[in-house]
Amino acid sequence: MKNLNLPSVSKKNIAIQITNSAERAIRQGHPWLFENGITQQSHQGKTGDLAVIFDKKRKFLGIGLYDPSSMIRVRILRVLKPATIGQPFFEEKLNAANQRRAPLRDATPKTTGYRLLNGENDGMPGIIIDRYAETAVIKLYTPAWVPHLRDVVGALESISPAKRVVLRLSGSFNKNPKGFNHTTEKEKSISSKPSYKKSNQIKPSGFGLYDGMILVGEKLNAPIIFRENGLKFEVDPIHGQKTGFFLDQRDNRARVEALAKGKRVLNVFSYTGGFSIYAARGGAKEVVSLDASQPAIDAAKRNFSLNFENTNRHKGVVGDAFEIMSQMKKQNHFFDMVIIDPPSFAHNKSQIDGALRAYKKLTRLGVSILAPKGVLVQASCSSRVDTELFFDTVHLAARQAGRPLIEIERSSHALDHPIGYPEGEYLKCLFADVR
Ligand code: SAH
Repeated sequence: MKNLNLPSVSKKNIAIQITNSAERAIRQGHPWLFENGITQQSHQGKTGDLAVIFDKKRKFLGIGLYDPSSMIRVRILRVLKPATIGQPFFEEKLNAANQRRAPLRDATPKTTGYRLLNGENDGMPGIIIDRYAETAVIKLYTPAWVPHLRDVVGALESISPAKRVVLRLSGSFNKNPKGFNHTTEKEKSISSKPSYKKSNQIKPSGFGLYDGMILVGEKLNAPIIFRENGLKFEVDPIHGQKTGFFLDQRDNRARVEALAKGKRVLNVFSYTGGFSIYAARGGAKEVVSLDASQPAIDAAKRNFSLNFENTNRHKGVVGDAFEIMSQMKKQNHFFDMVIIDPPSFAHNKSQIDGALRAYKKLTRLGVSILAPKGVLVQASCSSRVDTELFFDTVHLAARQAGRPLIEIERSSHALDHPIGYPEGEYLKCLFADVR
């Protein structure tokens, strides 16, 4: 790993006492201790220090990473049994996560892009590790991981060695007052724009770390090519959204492939064309990728040519999903399959109603451009939106549009996105025929 002057963890752990309801949640395996669950604390402590949580009887309840900048004050690494937090502990977690993914790695056709570590759901709250062929991408959702980064990289090197390790930092780094720089308004507006590539500007985030930095190995001069169920995809782990690709939709893409034969397919919110390429391999007659981001559509086209010699079947459209689908409806432009996989519309409770309205509108538009017996595939990646409510909303909207749905399948997460706590369940996808 690069020579970095990372902060160290204080020798003295923070001792914390908590409310009854917080204790109940932790005993039930919830990985977060919120700020308002704390009743007493031995001392202030630094970001990333170890916090030891005690129960009512002053017995050890759990240990985790302390983050004074977040409402999630402690991210819990271990409950009931004390543990020494360091490289061997992270190796143990990574090893379990790595073994869980073995069926995926061993399957044919080949898959070399997968989520190796799914944060909270693999017992490591606030950190994700994705593999794209020989490159690993570590994404931190809290600066509390910074003092432990060297140990994490060490654990990764011993359990799932990669030629290159890229670091990605979530937006919360810029909100952190301690030791990390603040983002300017301009930078915020750049990074909140839907895009494949974010601004080229590199944002320093303290301790010499920045989003997109290479921690181990060679600089990246071109996108990485990895395989998913044998198909080739390019990914830019430095500038791409999340860690560069939406690995969570792998199984749903395979379901699309199985249903696509002979169909005219519209992939709405296509990003770099994941669903489009699978539909094409499944024998789709025509595939349209629609996304607001030009670089994403450019990448979708490159992904198409990586897999198929003849690219005439694929068309990329850059524009707003709502507007373009309305136009298609006016022009009687029909499809046999419409896939709608939008970004998360609800980042907090207050946005849930707005999200449901948006899903409804998308369903109405989607079914309005579906030919008789067409297939609607609609997904939600917002954990705030309840699963049943999402499915009910889609059904209701389709019924109101005069195109009631007959379900083919409801699906959720792929094997490399295990669900370990309620908020960990976010992805839901409906496959249905219109009557
Ligand atoms: N289905 C994709 C992932 C979608 S991510 C996959 O399987 O890989 C969400 C995408 O929606 C992003 O690419 C973003 O650019 C796009 N987007 C966001 N708002 C949009 C809008 N109003 N119209 C069209 N695309 C939009």
